[in-house]
Amino acid sequence: MNTTCIMCPMGCALTVEEKGGVVTVVGNGCPRGEKYGKAEFSHPERVVTTLLKGLYGGVVSVKTDGPIPKDKIADLLAWAASYRLDHAVKTGDVIAESPVSCGANVVATSDFKGK
Ligand code: SF4
Repeated sequence: MNTTCIMCPMGCALTVEEKGGVVTVVGNGCPRGEKYGKAEFSHPERVVTTLLKGLYGGVVSVKTDGPIPKDKIADLLAWAASYRLDHAVKTGDVIAESPVSCGANVVATSDFKGK
């Protein structure tokens, strides 16, 4: 598997391979790249940012408060597309606790007046 380390601006090109149950990473410029490459290979995760619509109009920007498995991202975005926020929130408020069992909460990254 080829990937790019995103742990710093260097963006090292990584090649991750598994042989006999041992995962190896080449191309990393430092130990963080090896850790990142192995995590990408075995359980890739991402912090997700998106927008939620207000029930009465407007949008609020949100993100997960931690990384979620990549295979949960589509479910989370589908949830977000159908969700309608019906109350005011402030930046940092938890809007939903682990929707679609993604393992992270959805928090506001902007204030929203609700109407
Ligand atoms: S491997 Fe190290 S130097 Fe390369 S992008 Fe990742 S953190 Fe930066």
